[in-house]
Amino acid sequence: MLRSQGTDRTNSMGINLANDDDLQNLAAAIAAEPTDWQAVPLVPGATSAADWTEVTSPADRRRRVGRWQAADAATVERAMANAVAAQPAWDATPVASRAALLEHAADLLEQRMPRYMALCTMEAGKTIPDGVAEVREAVDFLRYYAGQARGISAPEALPGPTGETNTLQLAGRGVFACISPWNFPLAIFIGQVAAALVTGNTVLAKPAEQTTLVGFEAVKLLHEAGVPETVLQLVPGDGASVGAALTGDPRIAGVVFTGSNGTALAINRALAARDGAIGTLIAETGGQNAMIADSSALPEQLIKDVMASAFTSAGQRCSAARVLFVQDDIADKVITMLAGAMAELKVGDPGQLSTDVGPVIDADALGMLDRHAERMQGEARLIAQAAMGDDTAHGTFFAPRAWELKSLSQLDRENFGPALHVIRWKASELDQVIDAINTTGYGLTLGIHSRIDETVELIAARARVGNVYVNRNQVGAVVGTQPFGGQRLSGTGPKAGGPHYLPRFTTEKVVTINT
Ligand code: GLU
Repeated sequence: MLRSQGTDRTNSMGINLANDDDLQNLAAAIAAEPTDWQAVPLVPGATSAADWTEVTSPADRRRRVGRWQAADAATVERAMANAVAAQPAWDATPVASRAALLEHAADLLEQRMPRYMALCTMEAGKTIPDGVAEVREAVDFLRYYAGQARGISAPEALPGPTGETNTLQLAGRGVFACISPWNFPLAIFIGQVAAALVTGNTVLAKPAEQTTLVGFEAVKLLHEAGVPETVLQLVPGDGASVGAALTGDPRIAGVVFTGSNGTALAINRALAARDGAIGTLIAETGGQNAMIADSSALPEQLIKDVMASAFTSAGQRCSAARVLFVQDDIADKVITMLAGAMAELKVGDPGQLSTDVGPVIDADALGMLDRHAERMQGEARLIAQAAMGDDTAHGTFFAPRAWELKSLSQLDRENFGPALHVIRWKASELDQVIDAINTTGYGLTLGIHSRIDETVELIAARARVGNVYVNRNQVGAVVGTQPFGGQRLSGTGPKAGGPHYLPRFTTEKVVTINT
């Protein structure tokens, strides 16, 4: 059981998938959930006239999951006006009340885990273990930020001269746009929204187009928990229309975004181009994440952790390992074992518990991975390609692959999927390996496998990344335990699920009274 420091918060326990009874109950509960979902803008007073978008399953494009309607320009405008009008009263609501609403939402979410898991599998192609992790993380974000907000919101008396009192107080910035990714459609969506709400901001939430149905259900849940409908509004749509309308509007005080580096830069430019108050951007973006293994690494443990780091969630995690640097003394053995482990991967229907790797999110994602594979064919050695299951023909599946490269410079960008690259290094080259990783410009996660303390310390000290994992896998950061986020091309710095995150959503006011 995990406890965050300084509070009595307990992380969500999830469901024990190794227990047959729990599993049967879960399967029955998932099977009882609807198979046809619908999402619309959640904006009081608006009547959107936009067209419907059909949603099909990434695992089988013949399977309909539901439909959603985007927010048109008038709806976004109405949402903005609602959010501006509602913000002062929301900010004046005691933090204890705001935090209690998040905790209520966490309880509801935990009780209804199968519902949200089912939807994550249907709309986003999440495997069952990923679905459990997704709901647990969302619950943890709600409870963690509730606790953190209580801790930081009390007015703080500052030292000063006799005859004067000085008090520091945090308040919400105003209206926040929460622009969230499809790879954690519930956890990151709820994490962003919870952080912005609990600190006194009103929120316009735009889920990724690919996972609008999950975003809709999450907002409905928060409303049910008591968050007022003008305080949290859902404005579904694509980046070019809804995203641009939000980030270009001077009434938006801040944007919290998780997604590609290119989009984060575009948001930054949009915020800068507005007249009026300077907007704040909190961004988590991609990575070219490496794992470095030296000859003291335990090969069995290394392979287990490489497999988890590269192929969990079909490699569709910002944290995923893209490159394994393995010292030449053990490289042949490790590469042989890697190929063996990859031959065991089950690629197929994410709704089956036996599936290790589900589909990638859509045809665009698959196209990018296919083009990368073509390029690798000419300039790298294929180590292994996992077999596709026989239920993959109608979905967007990419067979997990590993290639051996000569140099990291052969990779020009992040390849967001189950694609791993292996590079050998010699004992004398450790500094160059670290330099090469730092030179990519990304700085999100780094894995180290070594039994030599000096090596671990050297790499951890020199690597310019946000999260370092030693002798374990490098995915699945736990809220309150491994605050998550990167630096440089990987993000603006504040770490989700960490103690320094919430202040980024606030303004600070100091009141000095001459008594
Ligand atoms: N927090 C997730 C992890 O540690 C990754 C989040 C992301 O992909 O944006 O694996």
